[in-house]
Amino acid sequence: MEIYLDANATTPVLPAARDAALAAMAEDFGNPSSIHSTGLKARALMDGVRARARRVLGAGQGRLLFLSGATEGIQTAVLSALSALRELPVRPELLLYGATEHKAVPEAIKHWNALLGLNLTVMAIPVGRDGRHDLGWLKAHAPRAGLVCTMAANNETGVISDLDGISQALAGSPARWMVDGVQALGKLPLLLEERRIDYAPFSGHKLYAPKGIGLLYVRDGAPFTPLLAGGGQEGALRSGTENMSGIAALGAVLAALEAGGTFRDAATLDAYRDRLAAALQQAFPGLLFNAPPELCLPTTLNFAVPGISAKLLLDLFDAAELRVSGGSACSAAKAQPSYVLEAMGLPTWQTASSVRMSFGPVADDAFIDEACARIRVCGESLRDSCLDPSAPGQALPADGLTRFVVDGACCYLLADAASQRAVVIDPLPELTERLAQWLRCQRYALAAVLDTHSHGDHASSAADLWAAVQQVPGDVDPLGWPRSADRLAIGASHLTRLAIPGHTQDSTAYLLHDAGQLRLAFVGDTVMPGALGRSDFEQSAPLQYAASLARLREVVGLRTLLLPGHDYDDRFATTLAVECDAQPLLADVLAGRLDAVSFAAAKAELERDLGLTAYQTIACGARVDAGCALAGSEMALADLQALAVQHPGLLLVDVREPYEQRLGQAPELGAQVRRQAVALSGLPDALVQWQALPAGTPIVFFCRSGNRSAQAARALRRLGHAEAWSLRGGLALWPRATVADAALAI
Ligand code: PLP
Repeated sequence: MEIYLDANATTPVLPAARDAALAAMAEDFGNPSSIHSTGLKARALMDGVRARARRVLGAGQGRLLFLSGATEGIQTAVLSALSALRELPVRPELLLYGATEHKAVPEAIKHWNALLGLNLTVMAIPVGRDGRHDLGWLKAHAPRAGLVCTMAANNETGVISDLDGISQALAGSPARWMVDGVQALGKLPLLLEERRIDYAPFSGHKLYAPKGIGLLYVRDGAPFTPLLAGGGQEGALRSGTENMSGIAALGAVLAALEAGGTFRDAATLDAYRDRLAAALQQAFPGLLFNAPPELCLPTTLNFAVPGISAKLLLDLFDAAELRVSGGSACSAAKAQPSYVLEAMGLPTWQTASSVRMSFGPVADDAFIDEACARIRVCGESLRDSCLDPSAPGQALPADGLTRFVVDGACCYLLADAASQRAVVIDPLPELTERLAQWLRCQRYALAAVLDTHSHGDHASSAADLWAAVQQVPGDVDPLGWPRSADRLAIGASHLTRLAIPGHTQDSTAYLLHDAGQLRLAFVGDTVMPGALGRSDFEQSAPLQYAASLARLREVVGLRTLLLPGHDYDDRFATTLAVECDAQPLLADVLAGRLDAVSFAAAKAELERDLGLTAYQTIACGARVDAGCALAGSEMALADLQALAVQHPGLLLVDVREPYEQRLGQAPELGAQVRRQAVALSGLPDALVQWQALPAGTPIVFFCRSGNRSAQAARALRRLGHAEAWSLRGGLALWPRATVADAALAI
């Protein structure tokens, strides 16, 4: 069952609110502007909810309008304040907003500032390391400001603003003051009238009402300009027939707030936060909280774990059916650093790897217990995968090939569980710590660290890796190969090498043999998916490139899997056959239609045309190959279920990482379906096996959201296996226990 810990993004709808909404749709469906009895009933309901909101918010004599949500409330407030500034004989100079405001605020300010032709200077009020506004700065700028916007509590960190301090800093300022109350609703007393607040927007869906209903408080006497003109509803302040089911639902939530009993009190919420914090610290010993807990809403925990990306943590939590978000929900899809944490001056790694866990005030003991238990299991899973640098675990012995990609550059780790040895090919400086920590945790010895060539874009980090694991490489050549050996054993497999000068003078392919059979080849930049390596470096050997390609073909043939040194668009691997189809130059040289000199000349011309970013552009260049446009490789869940019945040979492959696979249940499709677990990082190895399957065998990949599995299906299709599919929407769309009841814990 799902544990929903993303309440700052939205909440499920309280059962009483659902009932109220349904009743407003079914029985009390009137239009509150109608003067017959049905309309009058609707008006009475609406007036009742407004009166409740007035009490709950301390709105006093102020106006309260129903509208669609906080974004509309923010627009209305900003439009109102700025329209009034336009009328002033002497205009103020500044429009100020807190640096950690929700994007709706600065965007609305900039939008209306330009549209109304005010063109005032818009400035962000700096915040301190604790996330709170710099009151000295505000006091200094307030006399020149026309509008000041400061949120009551931050959606990402939960940091509670010092509204009384802000109010004092604004004393004597002509500025109107908007307080975004979205995250504070039901959690903090806002005392809207008592404080000097002019406008305060709210969204119902952050506190168990449905989406599409919100409130705007406007202080008595504060300027007002309607955003929507029309039929004159809401006293002509906001035209449009009211969202009665939303209002009824919001009314039920406010009633629950007033009555008590549904929402936990502050002390209980504090205790829940402490329990979650303790579970997190136990699970991830290096974890840091990004804001001081004593200044935050108890329902929000924002943290980062050194050495572990937010993406990894989100995948891990999601596999355990713990729904959390990275930074704020709006920017989560883009995996950008959090501007909120940046404004607080946190280090870059922390701003880029933050995770937010937020719960609603109806959470109960059982819900928090279950959340803590799952957090601990997530920590164990990570430790057992040797991925938490701060905590050694009971590692599952790793075996086989793993690939890492940093900005398109590929590094491979070949591990053998039986001999506890590992070889790293094309080490990358960014991975040194991670690989070293993994080797230490697994207690594997480094057998070799090999480079396929002296790289143009980075120095080899082989020496750093050896040093980090406190081992010595022995007598090796500049690419890391043991001088006295012609083969390098790694368990039952072994590596040999093949000189293929061209991209660089020292370009070398490493061939992996299993039980006497050539399994695959690491070819560096000599052949990449969609491109050949550049040959215009100082260390290039352009005239030897053609002969090297011919030699490679002679030794590995057309169908052996080639693992490249760069992969910019998730193609994973290739073969000479696939590349001959995509790259005419390669086809020509392998067919003997070009000699070394004409090949070098043609290649130089191509490189000149494409410029120095050739690898990226050439990959989807002159000929659109199958890898660039593989539409139609996704299938819906219903199609997969049908296929499982029709095709007993179906192979279902879970491409999530092992730490996720351990936690999440895999979909049930019947006993006849063959299953395999191959993390995306282990895909290159498995591609060899799947290439060998009969052509008509359907292989369906699945993951959490459908992204990684789509990459896997496309990679296999490019290699010629047409029956490769991915499950659209991933496990997220797989039917499961209802979300809302679990999250409400009622
Ligand atoms: N302000 C804050 C602090 C928020 O957290 C949000 C939503 O995340 C908004 C404004 C915008 O609310 P809505 O999208 O409901 O209009």
